[in-house]
Amino acid sequence: MTDETQNNAETPAAETAEEALYSAETLEAARVLFARPATFMMGAAKIEQLPAADLPEVTFAGRSNVGKSSLINALVGQNHLARASNEPGRTREVNFFVLDEKLRLVDLPGYGWAKASKAEVKKFQNLGRDYLRGRPNLKRAYLLIDARHGLKAVDNEPMDALDVAAVSYQIVLTKADKIKPHELKAVIEKTQAQIKKRPAAHPVVLATSSEKGHGIPELRAEIMTTCAVGP
Ligand code: GDP
Repeated sequence: MTDETQNNAETPAAETAEEALYSAETLEAARVLFARPATFMMGAAKIEQLPAADLPEVTFAGRSNVGKSSLINALVGQNHLARASNEPGRTREVNFFVLDEKLRLVDLPGYGWAKASKAEVKKFQNLGRDYLRGRPNLKRAYLLIDARHGLKAVDNEPMDALDVAAVSYQIVLTKADKIKPHELKAVIEKTQAQIKKRPAAHPVVLATSSEKGHGIPELRAEIMTTCAVGP
């Protein structure tokens, strides 16, 4: 298929996060689901330590400081569930949070670590990759990208890994409150165009602000639907 035919095709990529993707009922069900108790289950530093694959999981990946902890906290409406990025121990493990024994939110180690040694970086890259490859209950990965910056070269590696592992993933822009609405619209459109040919990428890019709550109800609905669970 040529670029031209792809660009002209009517695909869901033409949608933007501003359009209503979910019904009021779905958004309300997701709100109720995510108001249920969420707890830290465990951190795994090695692949052998992963918990049994007995609940649907979604995972969150992104560069350190992208707003991953803030997003997980905003989803569950708790300020301190996922810790901030500057706590070294926890950020080098795959951390599992359970939402009311229905699904798990999985925090993957951040990438783009400036301070970590090469050996350390390799270690948690491998752990992340092993998790992505071998997890039958993993329903989707959410790749977090700072709305101010859009996709950068450093983001190609996780996208390549997800495409190779054939793990469905969706891009979630973070810190949407930091840019103007027309800039946000432009970055959504640009990102959607950039991922068009990536086989495992969901065509719709979501925009969120953990600070202001923008896009959080929609992301909850997306996760609920993806995991096929109800409140
Ligand atoms: P992590 O390293 O990816 O877990 O990032 P954090 O969640 O610790 O966030 C990194 C920094 O970005 C912190 O100073 C947060 O307060 C800030 N931040 C995160 N999300 C948002 C957001 O939606 N809006 C704004 N304005 N700041 C945010």
